[in-house]
Amino acid sequence: MDIKLIFPPFEQNTYDRCLLPPLSIVSLHSYLKKRGYNSRLYDLELESFLSVKSKSKINFQVLSDRQRIKKYLEGKKDFYLELQLERIINSFEMFDHNVFCFSIIDISQLFISLAIAKFLTKKYQSTIIFGGPYITLNKGFVLEQFCFVDYEITGASEDSLYQLILSLDKKLDVSKVPNLLYAKDGKTVYNTNKEFDINNSEMPDFNALPIEKYRVNGNLVLPYQLVSGCNENCFFCAHRTINPLIKMKDVDKVIKELKELKEKHNVRHFYFCDNLINADNSYLEELCDRIIEEELDILWIDHAKPDILSQELMQKIRKSGCVQLYYGIESASESVLKKMNKHLSINDVKKCLELSHKAGIWNHVSFIVGYLGETEKDFDTTLNFILENKNAIDSIMVSPFYIPKKSIIYNNPSRFNVALNISDSTQVMVSFDDLTNQNSEEVITDRMTKIGSLIDKFNLFPFKLKNNKILSINMFFDLCSELKDKSIFKQRIKTL
Ligand code: SF4
Repeated sequence: MDIKLIFPPFEQNTYDRCLLPPLSIVSLHSYLKKRGYNSRLYDLELESFLSVKSKSKINFQVLSDRQRIKKYLEGKKDFYLELQLERIINSFEMFDHNVFCFSIIDISQLFISLAIAKFLTKKYQSTIIFGGPYITLNKGFVLEQFCFVDYEITGASEDSLYQLILSLDKKLDVSKVPNLLYAKDGKTVYNTNKEFDINNSEMPDFNALPIEKYRVNGNLVLPYQLVSGCNENCFFCAHRTINPLIKMKDVDKVIKELKELKEKHNVRHFYFCDNLINADNSYLEELCDRIIEEELDILWIDHAKPDILSQELMQKIRKSGCVQLYYGIESASESVLKKMNKHLSINDVKKCLELSHKAGIWNHVSFIVGYLGETEKDFDTTLNFILENKNAIDSIMVSPFYIPKKSIIYNNPSRFNVALNISDSTQVMVSFDDLTNQNSEEVITDRMTKIGSLIDKFNLFPFKLKNNKILSINMFFDLCSELKDKSIFKQRIKTL
């Protein structure tokens, strides 16, 4: 059986790009390999990224045209689009009975994946599997709309994909494969759910990718996961649908794997892709202690809850190599935080940012504008918080509020007095009418502009470089030797 794991490209210009190997397909590959199934990996996002600079034969710009692809999927002939699809699949080594697994994080990867899958099944006898967070949030959608997709896998996919491959290989019934969706007798069948324990994951085998292509100026950044799920339950978040249970990887396993990755790839820079590294501060402390003791000498970035209130712990975090923490604050109004079900005290947030800043960690914070029931007074509290804490905040990300599919609010609109506007079922962020206190579009725009002005005034968005370029994670790590003095770091960024 020939298994191909595909990480589709994002639509060009959708995101500011960085060059990170896709952990999703690497983890799937490593899990399958350990159990006797070899697979080939295709990172089409890398190809698309490189195509901007090189003279690629594939026109990824055309493959980013969502409306054009939608028409193709509806049956419209499009020879030029098919030429690009042909060029993509020419890079796949095709054999009979190929199994293609598409790992889809975001809607921006969906349409191009569907176009490739449609074109593949026209030409070859193939089994098409779609999985990833987007598929989990839109469970059943792809399978029901596009008959060339054979299976959907929801949630963490390692073991489900292995069970499916095993069943296909041995011609067994697939009804026992967990987290699987498929069509049977004209109906969609949903198999039972099963959680995957991150401690059962395998050591990521990045050599399955052309890993040297991810080096920027000689430096490589590797993604790595320590924690799956989250123990918080913010009403606006859908993580419980994707991963209902929190699991932390044993520190022994983490240390062993990081050491091995470091040696194997000559890499110091790690992007830890967790919802929260400090779901339990004692876990974080144990991790930092071990990284220091073992003299791992790495640099890392992760997401954290802004409630680390011990100076000693914060200094250990920095000493263990942490250079940036992403804190999801979302609002500085206690009343809005309560409405979000965020268990944060704004005084603690303030203290945490100060300690983190003092330790020399880059504080990247996020805010949401226009949350349910956010008043002008609540918003002013957030603005004042930014002003008062501008020295401890290094960069800000701000977004208007939408309701994510499968979040607690989405699942219970009447409880939150909202009416959902679901006009496009492919979208995972849904607009809404707040039935009690609607903030008009003008109000939201005005609030976004006000925060935007503060960001500009105090240079709190230094990721924006000249010529509208963005400071990528790769470049951020490159500059990290100057992070001890953040003012020098910021000056350097201005010159880039
Ligand atoms: S928003 Fe962050 S902290 Fe809140 S539930 Fe989601 S992942 Fe957890």
